[in-house]
Amino acid sequence: MLSAFERLEHLEERLHAAAARAGRKRTELCLIAVSKTFSDSEIRPFLEGGQREFGENRLQEVQKKWPLLKEEFPETQLHFIGRIQSNKARDIVKLCSALHTLDRDKIAEALQREGQLQKRMPLLFVQVNTGEEAQKAGVLPREVPRFLGICSDAYGLTIAGLMCIPPFNEKPEPHFALLQRLAEKHALAYLSMGMSSDFETAIHFGATHLRVGSALFGSRSPPKL
Ligand SMILES: *Cc1c(COP(=O)(O)O)cnc(C)c1O
Repeated sequence: MLSAFERLEHLEERLHAAAARAGRKRTELCLIAVSKTFSDSEIRPFLEGGQREFGENRLQEVQKKWPLLKEEFPETQLHFIGRIQSNKARDIVKLCSALHTLDRDKIAEALQREGQLQKRMPLLFVQVNTGEEAQKAGVLPREVPRFLGICSDAYGLTIAGLMCIPPFNEKPEPHFALLQRLAEKHALAYLSMGMSSDFETAIHFGATHLRVGSALFGSRSPPKL
């Protein structure tokens, strides 16, 4: 089995190559290592290998695994990529550097409140349901202008970019292209898109934040926590 260091190195090579093919630079890309379901002892080698940006989708895991790891590696940045409930906004604002899944007025309201109380705010991405899937979180593409307006006008939030998860069994290209068009239209700088199976395609369509789990950590078993 490859070591964490070797996996990171291999992924670095693919990031450099994909960036070069797209006429872009590696420095434009933020690699988020999605460590959900993996234990602190499985995560530590990646920290030792130099990785500092990590993604989690459950607050419970953030609270259980990361306080000690962050003490050891204080520059660590956590990205929250899971569904968020408004009563979790307090802890997300406290513990995370970025939230990729803002998609409801109620969450925007809770974030504004916590931002004022804590005097800090994660980098905010609005999740867009590009495939208009009934079971999937995210704002529908046609609702994006209204929701961005609410975020800034009603809640004073600065939105950094958009995020999407293309439908599981469709080609990702049209979804990445749609997200790129929406971000351009609203002058948003960041695009959170691309996972283990499609991050090279996402780079071609302008992704800035890549959420890569299994290509680094291996395949996941169901959550243990
Ligand atoms: C799990 C997850 C990922 C990482 O998926 P891989 O296919 O393992 O790379 C990315 N984004 C979100 C929102 C996830 O929940």
